[in-house]
Amino acid sequence: MQIAFIGLGNMGAPMAINLVKAGHSVKAFDLSAPALAKVQAEGGQAAASAEEAVKGAEVVISMLPASQHVEGLYLGRGGTGGLLAHIAKGVLVIDSSTIAAATSQKVAKAAEAAGIAFIDAPVSGGTGGAIAGTLTFMVGGADADLERARPLLEKMGKNIFHAGAVGAGQTAKICNNMLLGILMIGTSEAIALGVANGLDPKVLSEIMRRSSGGNWALEVYNPYPGVQENSAATRGYTGGFGTDLMLKDLGLAQESAMAVRASTPLGGMARALYAAHSLAGHGPEDFSSVIKMMQKK
Ligand code: NAD
Repeated sequence: MQIAFIGLGNMGAPMAINLVKAGHSVKAFDLSAPALAKVQAEGGQAAASAEEAVKGAEVVISMLPASQHVEGLYLGRGGTGGLLAHIAKGVLVIDSSTIAAATSQKVAKAAEAAGIAFIDAPVSGGTGGAIAGTLTFMVGGADADLERARPLLEKMGKNIFHAGAVGAGQTAKICNNMLLGILMIGTSEAIALGVANGLDPKVLSEIMRRSSGGNWALEVYNPYPGVQENSAATRGYTGGFGTDLMLKDLGLAQESAMAVRASTPLGGMARALYAAHSLAGHGPEDFSSVIKMMQKK
């Protein structure tokens, strides 16, 4: 299949590479030349622009940071120059970025008017899951569009959930990431407390992992450097899920909570803590670096 892939960051690059490995023809584009070179080195074709990438594509996939990037790409800024005008009728657009459900719905509406199918398909599983092709996809959109996307999603992930209509994938993702943000802070507090009291972080982490405090952070994403070989913490908090991206997701969670007057006290507290961590200069570091807030300087 001829695929256009736009946004080749920590997540997009390994996802695009998995599609190349599955035998698809992938024309890729990213504003960053090193990101593009990475996918090209693995057999992807480098496009000079997003417009060039979508030429002849049967499916377009995007993996961008936030709502404004997705809206800017497809609809253009100030209502002009959007990529939708360059995508052929009948093409399927899969947006895997984590963005506001309302933005997914806005782009989907414009796509529909242009005869283009659109689904939101945000993911969970981290960069490890993106590399291994074991991501979880949370899809919002029509049944038929999901079925068109499924063979491709199966090359990048192992769990594919249909959450509901367009935007529902984003809502599910935001609920999940609010929980993850809270869990990472709780896990960090517990490890920092144990270490301050003389415990070995590896021993304590293993005890909690197999006890009632066990969670995903302890399983595969330990915030303490050196506890797990392949964690972002061990890599100096690089190459994972940025603090600023977590902050964006917790902001989206608070916005959707306000819209329905939901009570999310821990989500609100987590957003405030990641915001303080970002202001202290840790925005580009992996979100598990939040443990630094709880450690002695
Ligand atoms: P990233 O910052 O590593 O990558 C984003 C890429 O998009 C960058 O390479 C950037 O140059 C590119 N880009 C931005 N605007 C562009 C444009 N207009 N055209 C082309 N390229 C453009 O981010 P990431 O970690 O890959 O995350 C991408 C999305 O996936 C985010 O919405 C994030 O919340 C979500 N997500 C991330 C993780 C994770 O573990 N990193 C996990 C699940 C979901």
